[in-house]
Amino acid sequence: MDLRNIAIIAHVDHGKTTLVDNILRATKVFRDNQDTGDLIMDSNDLERERGITIFSKNAAVTYKDVKINVIDTPGHADFGGEVERVLKMADGVILLVDAFEGPMPQTRFVLQKALHLNLKPIVVINKVDKPNCRPDEVHDAVFELFFQLDATEEQLDFPTYYGSGKQGWFNETLEPFENINPLLDGILKHVPPPHINKGTLQMQITSLDYSSFLGRIAIGKVGRGVIKEGQQIALMQPEGVVKKIKVKELYVFEGMGKKKVSEVLAGDLCAVVGIDDFNIGDTISDVENQEALPSISVDEPTMSMTFGINNSPFYGKDGKFVTSRHLRERLWKEMEKNLALKVEESEGGDSFIVFGRGILHWVFW
Ligand code: GDP
Repeated sequence: MDLRNIAIIAHVDHGKTTLVDNILRATKVFRDNQDTGDLIMDSNDLERERGITIFSKNAAVTYKDVKINVIDTPGHADFGGEVERVLKMADGVILLVDAFEGPMPQTRFVLQKALHLNLKPIVVINKVDKPNCRPDEVHDAVFELFFQLDATEEQLDFPTYYGSGKQGWFNETLEPFENINPLLDGILKHVPPPHINKGTLQMQITSLDYSSFLGRIAIGKVGRGVIKEGQQIALMQPEGVVKKIKVKELYVFEGMGKKKVSEVLAGDLCAVVGIDDFNIGDTISDVENQEALPSISVDEPTMSMTFGINNSPFYGKDGKFVTSRHLRERLWKEMEKNLALKVEESEGGDSFIVFGRGILHWVFW
């Protein structure tokens, strides 16, 4: 099947959720009578509350017989390692910008990573329905930003789409249109299909998910060959460590969820169940032909905080999870998913030093 992998970068409130919602509707992910509610990608309550996208999520749609994997990216700089890993799954990137506010400094970091990874950019100038919007100036500001970020000649020649997620249209000009198809056509036209190397199975784990039923789930793009349910694979880790493991279950992304499949071909993103003991950057390889990809570093933490139980005279008067065992469980659970987080236990075991990457890292608490 023909395929496109595209990441979306947007400053908070510039309309990413509304855009993804439009893409899902346009490609009939929902049955016509299904009540979807608005703002589908913001499913995480905490995120909605804080208005920040912390967890990367994927969606996948089919348009004109082409599968489009839509990869969400954190819009800010604090999870440096995460941004780069997530972008590695994409071949193109949509930079979504508010037609009034223009590009914001907070998205600079992520955009720069995307340009340096040589992703093909598409610029979407949203909210042109707003009375005081200034789409032409915003277009120029985006060009200027690309230039400052050392975009290549080809990247500087980016296609631009204008429109309104709210009104449900995007077009190559400011002329309102009846739907978002011009943008979807633009994705098929401008984003290259994934580059596929010839050879046996090779897949780098670039992200992970966690399910209390299935355990840790490894996510990445199959770069080469094919991965199959029940297959014996070699998990290749740093310093020559190789573990032979059987793939229990395989999933691809479909709509807002995942679909269980028996095999995944090179180029597609997939989620692998059964390889509990992996790290980000490890390579899933053919057992006979073991070849590891260069590992990806997760940025080291930049700050730390000590967490302890309440030992004040009011101890025990309030709260449910008050013992250090509770605290320990909560921290260890978070480490399953939150890769740039590190925790050290104090000698007495009653407090923990938590290492993270800047203020935004603590938001999940
Ligand atoms: P996100 O934070 O980037 O996911 O942004 P949302 O999609 O949640 O949108 C933020 C706000 O902008 C919401 O109130 C949307 O209704 C509004 N919005 C999104 N797209 C448009 C648009 O094209 N025009 C206008 N006027 N408002 C929009």
